Amino acid sequence: MSKTLKGIPVSSGIGIGRAFLLDRRKIKVEKYPISAEDVPNEIERFHQALDLAKKQLMEIRENLVRELGDKGHAHIVDVHILILEDEMLINEAIKIVEQERVNAEWALRTVLSQFVNIFEGIEDSYLKERRSDIEHVGERILRNLVGKTISNIDELDQDVIVIAHDLSPADTAQMHKGKVLAFATDMGGRTSHTSITARSLEIPAVVGLENVSATVKTGDPVIVDGNEGILIVNPTPGEFRNYLDKQKHYKYIVSELLRLKDQPAETYDGYRIELKGNIEFFDEIPHLLSRGAEGIGLYRTEFLYMNKKDAPTEDDHFRVYKKLAKQISPYSAVIRTLDLGGDKIASHLHEEDEPNPVLGLRAIRFSLKHQDLFKLQLRAILRASAYGKLKILYPMISGIDEVRQANDILDKVKQELLSKGIYFDEAIQVGVMIEIPSAAMTVDFLAREVDFFSIGTNDLIQYSIAIDRGNEHVAYLYEPLHPAVLRSVKQCVVAAHSQGIRVAMCGEMAGDPLCTLILLGLGLDELSMNAPSLPIIKKIVRSVRYEQAAEMAYRAMILSTPSEIEDYVEKAMRRLFPEFF
Ligand code: PEP
Ligand code: MG
Repeated sequence: MSKTLKGIPVSSGIGIGRAFLLDRRKIKVEKYPISAEDVPNEIERFHQALDLAKKQLMEIRENLVRELGDKGHAHIVDVHILILEDEMLINEAIKIVEQERVNAEWALRTVLSQFVNIFEGIEDSYLKERRSDIEHVGERILRNLVGKTISNIDELDQDVIVIAHDLSPADTAQMHKGKVLAFATDMGGRTSHTSITARSLEIPAVVGLENVSATVKTGDPVIVDGNEGILIVNPTPGEFRNYLDKQKHYKYIVSELLRLKDQPAETYDGYRIELKGNIEFFDEIPHLLSRGAEGIGLYRTEFLYMNKKDAPTEDDHFRVYKKLAKQISPYSAVIRTLDLGGDKIASHLHEEDEPNPVLGLRAIRFSLKHQDLFKLQLRAILRASAYGKLKILYPMISGIDEVRQANDILDKVKQELLSKGIYFDEAIQVGVMIEIPSAAMTVDFLAREVDFFSIGTNDLIQYSIAIDRGNEHVAYLYEPLHPAVLRSVKQCVVAAHSQGIRVAMCGEMAGDPLCTLILLGLGLDELSMNAPSLPIIKKIVRSVRYEQAAEMAYRAMILSTPSEIEDYVEKAMRRLFPEFF
């Protein structure tokens, strides 16, 4: 009988095929005592399992690099190798074998649960993912200990839809060979490495289905709809036909849209805006370029600090920024200085618990307090600016004082470099994120101090409407088309243009096709978004005259409630683009 499950859509597209259940369930571990003289043997057995795990991961890594080069996501496997080498994990397990005289499997399981408990209750999705990384590595070692090796996705010999309780990033990274039509898992979230990899390999995926691995058997016919987050087991003939049509339509739209890749984002009457890409990881760049991004509008550099054992050095920063500058040339890349704190916490920099981290010592406030760290980053950006076109963006600016303080520090760093004869772009542009209401209300002053604005709607909406962007109970209030948000955007554009500076938007709203014409009509110069949104946004821009967009923005601005605005915009967009809405 047909059954529909609802999960989180993390990678768009539709996969139709037979299920292949990948057993990634936890290994059952028995506890048994060992004698004192068996302790060295037991420790040796543990080391052998560790060595084997390392060999397995190195092999996966080598295959990936050989076949895919930079795009092979080898860094994800590196995270696992790092965890495998973590002395605390190894030593703690050995200590338990020695002190409690128990088998290595039991000792390791005990340490793993202690590690995982530490992560329990942490809301941050990135940290949650580190917990799953530790679990994946632990399961690999346990399987080696009990002699049950993991079946590799690499070895699949027919096209399938992979179903699993959870997939490790090492699993997903091996899905490039075209044998995996889609995948679906019980666990996972949008920001997991697995989901990020699925997006960059363009494999349709739905995660967070809770019990799909218990519902589906190998060989069952399944449909995975990565656009809507739906999985259908044993579809009816009607559902099957419907999804074949949807799949065809989706493929057609994607290929049609991609034909616009080299065309400018320009209205019929020649009004031009720039479409750029947001990145967190480096391997997103080829993807953005292949969809026609004209540069990077937001590089979230705090990701350099996440998932790392140690904080990156100035040279680590420099190498990344230099590579970015070269790779993105002739376009430019906007490097946002650290936006740590709030929901993005790096364990080695986190000092103390804050009662209200989202309103706490985060982003530019954190950088101004930790000036050594800030200078290190600015030095690296400046040094890299000699190799391409880079711009600096300060996050979470609340007013002019912060801009001036940050710029004073930047000037000092520039002087230092000049005195050492180190070359950099002396005219490097500096911009601010407009994402706090106090900044949005003083944009006329701020526009005199900087070279550009970038509107961060994710936070601007959160702070303007006073709703936690991660809290599902108030999610209904998270309204990009709230009159307050539209007014803030409009004020930003007016203030920026009257000072002759450009204004970009890099929050999620910039990549929401429903909002494109409103944003165009409000006068934004640049929109920066994730790769999959680029083609459709360009198509919308290229399908209208500027006046139409301006008229739509004007009409939306005189409506007084979010639902009226949404209603109006939805109807208008459906009329103009029945194929998309
Ligand atoms: C934003 O707030 O809109 C933004 C782009 O920054 P982040 O999502 O990284 O907070
Ligand atoms: Mg933000």
